[in-house]
Formats: sequence, C-alpha cells, structure tokens
Amino acid sequence: MELWFTEFYKGEGMDLQGTGLTVKVKNAVSAKTPFQEILLLDTVDYGKMLVLDGAIQTTEKDEFIYHEMIVHPALFTLGRRPERVLVIGGGDGGTVREILKHDPEKVDMVEIDKEVVEFAKRELPTISCALNDERVNLIFADGREFIRGKEEVYDVIIVDCSDPIGPSKVLYEKGFYEDARRALKEGGIFVTQSESPFAQKRVHGKVVDELKKVFPIVRPYLAFIPTYPSGMWSFTIGSVKADPLAVEKEKLKESYIKFVEEKGELKYYNPDIHYGAFAIPNFVYREE
Ligand code: SAM
Repeated sequence: MELWFTEFYKGEGMDLQGTGLTVKVKNAVSAKTPFQEILLLDTVDYGKMLVLDGAIQTTEKDEFIYHEMIVHPALFTLGRRPERVLVIGGGDGGTVREILKHDPEKVDMVEIDKEVVEFAKRELPTISCALNDERVNLIFADGREFIRGKEEVYDVIIVDCSDPIGPSKVLYEKGFYEDARRALKEGGIFVTQSESPFAQKRVHGKVVDELKKVFPIVRPYLAFIPTYPSGMWSFTIGSVKADPLAVEKEKLKESYIKFVEEKGELKYYNPDIHYGAFAIPNFVYREE
C-alpha cells in the first residue's frame, strides 16, 4: 500500500484555493498539542518533514534555503558581531543554528509550543542541533506578549512564524512591528518571513505595507523553497538605519570569505544572492 500526504492550499490568507503539494510518505507520527496538530512524515523525496495544522513547515532536504535566508541577509547587513538576537517562533531550531554561526553572545528563542521543540529535538536532529547550545535561552511563551515593553535590547529580531492563522496571527500586526522596533538597539534589524508573493499575495503585500508604516527602510526579498506554496517565498527586513542594499560589495565579500573559512560553506546564501534576492518581479505589487 502506498501512503501519500497532500497539503491543500486553502483557507485564510491563501489566494490559491484549488492547489496542493503531494509527497510520498514512508512513515508518519502525529501528536496534538494545546496549540496545534504536529505531524512528522518520513518522505521519499524530502527526508523528514514537519507539518503543523496541515501546513508543511520544514523538510530535511530544503530547510537550508529557508533557514539561511531568514538569517544571513540581516546578519551580514548588521556589520558587527551581534550581542543579542531574538527569534520568535522557529521551534524546529534551524534559524538558531544559522544565527550561532555569527557568534552572538546570546540568542533568546520565544516559541509558543514547547512540544514542537521537543518533537524537533527528537526527530529532526540535523535541524534542531543548536537548541542545546549554552548561548541559547529557550522561552516558551507568546512572542507577541514577550516583546511588549522591551526597549533597545536586541541587535536583530527574527520572526520565524507560521501562516497568519492561529497563534501566529498576532505576529502580522502593526502593533507587533511597533513593539519590535522599540526592542531593537540602534542600528538593529527586524526580519520576518512574509509568505509567498504568488500564493499569498495579499498577505505578503500587507506585511510590507504595515512594516512601511513602522520602519523607514523596508526591503522584501525572495528565495526559492520547493515545499512552500508555489515555491516562491519571501522575507522582509525592516530597519531604521541598516539597509541590506547599502552594504558595500567588497566589504560583504571579505566578511563572507572569512565566515566560510571559519564556519564552513553555506548552501544557498552568498554575496550575489545577498543583492539579487532583493530584485522583485513586477507583478508582486501590481493591483489586479
Ligand atoms: N518555517 C516555517 C514556515 O514558514 O512555515 C515556520 C516554522 S516554525 C516551526 C513556526 C513556529 O512558530 C511554530 O513552531 C509555532 O508554534 C510558532 N509560533 C506560532 N505563533 C507563535 C507566537 N505567537 N509566539 C511564538 N511562537 C509562535
């Protein structure tokens, strides 16, 4: 008997309503937490795959693209060793793994669902491997509440959340972006995953619009992620001063070469990608 799993692209925020992604599955484990339903699939093509409430979050085969791209454009733009970095969400641990390559003093990761972290530690060791690092402070709480009232604490804030349904919804609101701006140190950088500009065009556009009300510099950028709706994925940087496109090319090349010598090769991000990822096709911000 063959076992297949389909993520159906439907529901709030999704522009596509009759499309999905199907993968062949060798084995499946599931659990229900107070926040969501976790499904861990062992797939034929993508290795282990984490699915939350029916939506694919990460897979062993393509996770490097998402995790490198949510971290390195901001951290190479920062231009200094980060002291404190905040991750909101990110329960699988891949984002923290990439941040640690920049030698921060401390990373706070605020994840609402402890069971996602436990699941990832057990089932996805290559992704979650950095979560036991002594520089990582795991906080199990709502990221929206956590950030309220914080002032000038973080060099970089990374929002690695799921779609704007359920507990992630509050992480797409202007008030949250305002609190995040306040929590950044001078020269700090905010970055959030900002959905698919093809499959979730309205949500993507709203994230960019709301961020523009809060940050003077707002830079959406793209990456190809095969297991996310349509494969075309986006992230958006917001900051007061630090502009990823203003980073001097020669300086970026130098720090990248040093980084690779010390930490090893990356699989997706490089200086060409750093600038190229910010090129946005015409249709994305065009009214239909
Ligand atoms: N890469 C993924 C994507 O774009 O599909 C996101 C992965 S990560 C597993 C998303 C995490 O955000 C989940 O583990 C979820 O529990 C967490 N999360 C959702 N809402 C949250 C909130 N308000 N505060 C903190 N964590 C939250």
